[in-house]
Amino acid sequence: MSIPLLQKARVGGYILRQKLAGRARYPLVLMLEPLFRCNLACAGCGKIDYPKEILDRRLSVDECLDAVDECGAPVVSIAGGEPLLHKEIEKIAEGIVERRKFVYLCTNALLMHKRLSRFSPSPYFVWSVHLDGDRSMHDKSVCESGVYDRAVAAIAAAKSRGFRVNINCTLFNDAEPARVAGFFDDVAKMGVDAITVSPGYAYERAPDQEHFLTRTRTKQLFRDIFRRGRGARAWSFSQSSLFLDFLAGNQEYHCTPWGNPTRNVFGWQRPCYLLGEGYAKSFRELMDDTEWDGYGTGNYEKCANCMVHSGYEATAVDDAVRHPLKALAVGLRGVRTEGPMAPEIPLGGQRPAQYVFAKHVEIERAKIVAETKPAARAPA
Ligand code: SF4
Repeated sequence: MSIPLLQKARVGGYILRQKLAGRARYPLVLMLEPLFRCNLACAGCGKIDYPKEILDRRLSVDECLDAVDECGAPVVSIAGGEPLLHKEIEKIAEGIVERRKFVYLCTNALLMHKRLSRFSPSPYFVWSVHLDGDRSMHDKSVCESGVYDRAVAAIAAAKSRGFRVNINCTLFNDAEPARVAGFFDDVAKMGVDAITVSPGYAYERAPDQEHFLTRTRTKQLFRDIFRRGRGARAWSFSQSSLFLDFLAGNQEYHCTPWGNPTRNVFGWQRPCYLLGEGYAKSFRELMDDTEWDGYGTGNYEKCANCMVHSGYEATAVDDAVRHPLKALAVGLRGVRTEGPMAPEIPLGGQRPAQYVFAKHVEIERAKIVAETKPAARAPA
């Protein structure tokens, strides 16, 4: 089973409580980035080309756990950068597990084998290993050879010690459906518990801008992949059936950016995990003072091609809560891969892109430099 019953029950109970409390906006997954430093430099990544002062910055254990408490989401995805470069990462994960929240520790797995003994298997803890395809696809995606083999060895070691292990797969416009389907078959044979799949988002800072998918190509790509796996039923996914249905062009969904709020070394990022258009000091400030209606496909040029799970999984989950029979039918019958697609959201009224990220990065860099200067001057 892709998502264990315990997790379904706890997340379902949380959603029910939000609905009963009449909350229109609530978080599902906290995206926690305790650092941006990484030990790889992937072409499609928009997170790692910061100045040194920013790459050297870490969120402390207390800052991370305060964010978890402040946000209240039942699931925490620890991303980055490479989280295993954080010296106290196991304390962060432990503190979240103690709160009986589900932790997905995202990693490129280069340090995973070495660090395994610092972690304990738990129903609340999942290794989420970055694998963008088979050996040649993945090594090309991360711009380094040998990474796929090291990740596969780390997955085997983690499974043999009783850990839950997922893979986290991002697809670009050079993905070949037959190869991706073959890769998903291989992953199942490795004993991986579930796959998280998403089209890549065109980060404005990513070095490779040519290989991001448009919405039309995304939908066709996922239809062509899912067709090879009985409408996606051949594989275990960590995502809802309706999100997979959306990827295949069968649902017209609007983005729910507050569903996956992001806390990183700058603060609470507006509006989502993918776009950095400002930072709030607290989760409450993020929720109350962000112009949410200005974002999402159809509202903002930078959102035009986005179909990423951090924006649309929460929409799919909300739809599943409202229409459980529809979700069940897709789960049982599989994702439809033929026939007309759902109408696309018109882009005529979207506001033009604002290129404010570099300005915000400079503001945050200046703050970090100002904070760290007195310590640097202090006697050793
Ligand atoms: S569509 Fe949503 S998740 Fe995607 S970039 Fe826009 S706000 Fe972020």
